[in-house]
Amino acid sequence: MTAESARIWPRGTRLSEAGSLVLGEHDVRDLAENFGTPLFVLNEDDFRARARLFRDSFGAAFADIGSSVDVYYAGKSFLCTAIAKIVVAEGLRLDTCTGGELAVAARAGVPGAKLGLHGNNKSLAEIERAIEMRVGRIVIDSLDEIDLIADVARRAGRRVPVMVRVTTGVHAGGHEYISTAHEDQKFGLSLADGGAVKAIQKVLGLESELELLGIHTHIGSQIQDAAAFVVSARKLLSLRAQIRDKFDYLLPEIDLGGGFGIAYTIRDEPIDVPALAHELAGSIDALCTEMSMPVPRVSIEPGRSIVGPSTVTLYRVGVVKPVTVDDGDTKVRTYVSVDGGMSDNIRPALYGAEYSAKLANRASSKVKIRSRIVGKHCESGDIVIPDIDLPADISRGDLIAVPATGAYGRSMASNYNLVTRPAVVAIRGGEARVIVRRETEEDLLATDVES
Ligand SMILES: *Cc1c(COP(=O)(O)O)cnc(C)c1O
Repeated sequence: MTAESARIWPRGTRLSEAGSLVLGEHDVRDLAENFGTPLFVLNEDDFRARARLFRDSFGAAFADIGSSVDVYYAGKSFLCTAIAKIVVAEGLRLDTCTGGELAVAARAGVPGAKLGLHGNNKSLAEIERAIEMRVGRIVIDSLDEIDLIADVARRAGRRVPVMVRVTTGVHAGGHEYISTAHEDQKFGLSLADGGAVKAIQKVLGLESELELLGIHTHIGSQIQDAAAFVVSARKLLSLRAQIRDKFDYLLPEIDLGGGFGIAYTIRDEPIDVPALAHELAGSIDALCTEMSMPVPRVSIEPGRSIVGPSTVTLYRVGVVKPVTVDDGDTKVRTYVSVDGGMSDNIRPALYGAEYSAKLANRASSKVKIRSRIVGKHCESGDIVIPDIDLPADISRGDLIAVPATGAYGRSMASNYNLVTRPAVVAIRGGEARVIVRRETEEDLLATDVES
């Protein structure tokens, strides 16, 4: 591994003498042999280290300004019982946004107080379940949801802690569909049209049912520029000052959401977490002084930046097919088909996400040829990597490793073409344990009621 490529692989990744890829203490050839492919290999030490890095660097930076930070792992990026347990063991909390995610949290024994519930269209059943589990917060996403939550709270005889999600107009991140705080989208209540203030007023009017913890915003995903978070913090703090002046209520907390960028390829600059924590704490401190108010509690919700880089997908190569293309000097593109594709990684097809990859089971000194890694699905858009140089001798039976697939890979996986979704294996030291088993044909047929 060169220093440059080290940042796209989980820590502890290296090459064996035979030139195969070794993840922690595990040669990918053995992992593929023992667990099959496609396979998600999650390096648990890497995951834990990233979770701790958020907890410790934000904790320290905000302690310095007399505040504290809660880190909520965004479960939607990848969640299973083992991950929920690890997250809590590392001192983080857990963000959920559906009944299904709450069910996993319940099975993992996550205390309700450590849970948050998000969602732009929570069902009544999801709200009831969250309140029954005594979640630490429900993040309100619309005006009409306020009555819904208040009604359930009244019936349950319980005061429910809530936050109000605000769209601040800050536009950050790569692609339109993963940029969520500008105005023309479905999430949150707008600052610009007064919706946010109206919602806050309404919540404050339901004092016996709802306890307003604070305001929340999530400005997007895969954000590589720390300044975007500072701008968003400023917007939330201005709103906090406005609420104080208007309603004589000082919101105890602001939540800055997630979206911290990672390196999918060597061209990506990942967010420097300690530097971001330091910069944010400094700005929040200064802004609060400027607005003559005490520093609030802060929460953040990283998902991708904890699980993304921890995980590598292993694919087995099948058909290798040279195709004549008529654009420029190289007239041939080699299509390298793998045994998964858009069913285990929809991100390239969904928003043009870029990945890198490596021949993983051996070294090759052959010249690199212009290639495209494609899946096995019946869609020409089923592409893992559109343009990559791979050794000319790549052939059936080889392994390809794609790094940084931990977030929104397995969690967005589908059964398209009735494929079975891959297993997730967590490696730690010499141990490799299945934390999500591979689906079987019986799983596929289980919901098909005609026999
Ligand atoms: C998706 C999401 C996150 C996590 O985003 P990442 O890019 O995975 O860090 C956090 N909070 C909210 C509200 C989200 O919708």
